[in-house]
Amino acid sequence: MSCGVSDDTIVAAHSNQLRDGKGRGVKAHDYRIAYLCYTCHTAIDQGKDLNKQDRVDLWETAHRKTIGWLFENGKLKA
Ligand SMILES: [Zn+2]
Repeated sequence: MSCGVSDDTIVAAHSNQLRDGKGRGVKAHDYRIAYLCYTCHTAIDQGKDLNKQDRVDLWETAHRKTIGWLFENGKLKA
């Protein structure tokens, strides 16, 4: 949902942002996920080429696409 790749490395990556609870010993909420391929996941989690804001932006963009996809495909309903 970030770079557009669709392969078997896609995982539901939890938010790694402090405001979502990470860092207090609890996993971020399950609604705060973004489907990311291995490459994007690694880049966002450990990316040494990206500054913190870039990583947050990348994740948020993928997150919005992921949630949109879940609704459009009937996986989530409001
Ligand atoms: Zn990717």
